[in-house]
Amino acid sequence: MEIRSLEVVPVAHREPPLRNSWGAHSELAARTLVRVETADGLVGVGETYGDDQVITALEGATDLVEGMNAYERTPLRLRLQDEMAYGAIETALLDVVGKATGQPVHALLGGKVRDEVEFSAYLFYKYADSDPETAAICPREVLSPDAMVEQARQFVDKHGFEVLKLKGGVLDPDTELRTLERLAEEFGRRCPLRIDPNGAWSVETATRIAKRLRKMDVTVEFLEDPVPSMHAHARLKRNVDYPIATNMFVTEFDDIATAVELNSIDVILSDHHYWGGPSGNMDLDHTVRTFDLGVGMHSNSHLGVSMATMSHVAAAMPTLRYACDTHYPWISDDVIEGSPIEISDGFVDVPDEPGLGVDLDDERVEEMHETWKESETLGYSSVGSMAAEYADAMADRGDWLPNKPRW
Ligand code: MG
Repeated sequence: MEIRSLEVVPVAHREPPLRNSWGAHSELAARTLVRVETADGLVGVGETYGDDQVITALEGATDLVEGMNAYERTPLRLRLQDEMAYGAIETALLDVVGKATGQPVHALLGGKVRDEVEFSAYLFYKYADSDPETAAICPREVLSPDAMVEQARQFVDKHGFEVLKLKGGVLDPDTELRTLERLAEEFGRRCPLRIDPNGAWSVETATRIAKRLRKMDVTVEFLEDPVPSMHAHARLKRNVDYPIATNMFVTEFDDIATAVELNSIDVILSDHHYWGGPSGNMDLDHTVRTFDLGVGMHSNSHLGVSMATMSHVAAAMPTLRYACDTHYPWISDDVIEGSPIEISDGFVDVPDEPGLGVDLDDERVEEMHETWKESETLGYSSVGSMAAEYADAMADRGDWLPNKPRW
């Protein structure tokens, strides 16, 4: 099945001013869509990050993709030598192969092992949205434990989430600990909680916090990237018995060997955007099983094509046993028809239609592409821009740096 064309379409979407240990999200974020078309006129789509580097890599792949056989993905992966660009293209190729064969993407990945995929509520400290009317959820400022409980209540009431993940590394660790305590008081002591300080804590601080958590009657599934390096996690694991998860220090297959040698990580967070596409994610699932590690799923700010892809991939991963992360409930713009994909009782029904089971809304894509063209600051494209955004927005924090560990 010959691919006749590859189209790369950057788009911009609104995003709330969410906080993390690097700074703050801009209120406008970029994503990149890819669209492949076969000689027979079938169209497949993929979505990835929106930074200039990946756009350049995707545009540079045009000659390799045009004229290729949609089934022959491995030679493309080897020729590209760019896992992120490959991830977006592979997604589009699987979508188009699925449409051609009448099979959903999860079937092309080996078959689904679950009919619905669980997602966690992704809770963020944040500033107030500048345009509350356009917010999908929680437009107000959230910079205290009680305000976070209100935010979580909205997530649970709207989508039925049963697992709560707190983006940490923003307020001092004792306030974030108090936030977890308040969440447990509100949603039950057995409600699974996670905290992800993105490496903002020292080993000593993370050890102290973990020991305090053990004394509290709360259920913690894992600590995600509490400290700022692979070696720091190895030191931390000698002190604490909570599982340690990462999406920061194990981001490619070579890193797994180091993580196993150092015994620094228990759970690797997969991501089809950079682990070699959906099929690379399946490779990761098989590899973690070899080492008796766990696997979850990481999320970066994303639109509906990625949400559908994540659901197909998660459905096909036998080792996955944690609710997946997603930013999807935060966004109010989307590029797919019939948006948003429904999250009900914390779960997404896995699509069984051919391919990804989603279609681009061409009008919205064009509008969001125009927004991208007109915008100079597409903040959440890199960690550097998040720090700059935070420093710019906060006049009294002009000298702020994303220094780690901070506490
Ligand atoms: Mg993380």
